[in-house]
Amino acid sequence: MTDDITRRPAFPQGSSRPVATPISPSVVFSSESPDALDAQYDGTSPGYTYAREGHPNADVLAQKIDALEGVPGGIVTGSGMSAVTAAMLGLLKAGDHVVGGDQLYGRSMRLMNQDLPRFGITTTLADPTDAAAIKAALRPETRMILVELVSNPTLRIADIEGIAALAQDRGILLAVDNTFTTPRAFKPFDHGADIVIHSVTKLLAGHADVTLGYVVARDPALQQAITDCAVTMGFTASPFDCWLAERGMMSFNLRYDRAEENAVALADHIATLPGVVRVLYPTRPDHPDHNRAAQVLGARGANMVSFELDGGRAAANAFVRAVPDLAFAPTLGDIATTISHPATSSHRALSPENRAELGMSEGFFRVSVGCEDIETLRAEFARGIAAARA
Ligand SMILES: *Cc1c(COP(=O)(O)O)cnc(C)c1O
Repeated sequence: MTDDITRRPAFPQGSSRPVATPISPSVVFSSESPDALDAQYDGTSPGYTYAREGHPNADVLAQKIDALEGVPGGIVTGSGMSAVTAAMLGLLKAGDHVVGGDQLYGRSMRLMNQDLPRFGITTTLADPTDAAAIKAALRPETRMILVELVSNPTLRIADIEGIAALAQDRGILLAVDNTFTTPRAFKPFDHGADIVIHSVTKLLAGHADVTLGYVVARDPALQQAITDCAVTMGFTASPFDCWLAERGMMSFNLRYDRAEENAVALADHIATLPGVVRVLYPTRPDHPDHNRAAQVLGARGANMVSFELDGGRAAANAFVRAVPDLAFAPTLGDIATTISHPATSSHRALSPENRAELGMSEGFFRVSVGCEDIETLRAEFARGIAAARA
């Protein structure tokens, strides 16, 4: 027994094991000897040294996502954006060129348009639903293409097979941000991707209480470059956040399937309501890319539904005010339904003309459908949309 309260006791361990994953907040890990530490750094013996370089909760979470995407060695980072950044800064150098989809996640677009060029990496955005447009954007120095299969918020489907064929033909790395579709609906490595990125914040963690990202490359040398970049730049994830996300992932398949089933039913319901100009959902026959969606996603359409109300901003305000139980919040993938209004949030920087070109009026909403009882959702949307019309 010691009364030195700075002394850290051995963690009590008995012959039984905890069922839930323990949280390991330790920043440093002590080694038994310089020989042992040497072996750890050489990689000939397993072990942790310093949490920015890796820690058990990040590894447990990464391995879970690795298994879903089908490639080992991925790294968990402190946000989805740090995962995108690690893939870019880990693999690109000044003089390289990157082509991105023209409806990428807002900050990914900003990274491409404003930040990479400051480091001498040039970028072009092009329409990923058209492989010819992507092809036209390629240059001899193009090193990477970044796409999302389902665009935000108009839910267009990228021509992933066409883009993958181009990338392979030209020796260009294909990075896919799989946040919207998740490996439950789409496995980018089966469609020619070299790198897969996630905002774990969204569907994988699923409870709107952690910000985390993940990136994995099929080629171990590329993965090492991405991991080294993430460790050097300090994109480390907190053990507590990793623990929450790993716990959230226990129910990921259940949540995903339920949310998707709700999304199908809700899209069909909204389409019948007066005052709705159009509904976008990938498996609906009136979706502009529904054939391609069927090819790459099979029967799956994910949990996002977009729709447009007649009546512009006034109708939009009335709708949101009439459904206070549905969180009006610019996120997605939570267990509960959230509604976002691109014109005042994700796409506010665009001019009204630009938004109109992309099909996003003041009456346009994107819904991240959650796991509620479908009858509750039908009733809420019917009430909200009726209020918008009044
Ligand atoms: C949210 C999101 C990101 C960024 O993730 P954060 O965890 O918020 O940093 C990147 N890509 C897509 C498609 C997203 O939805």
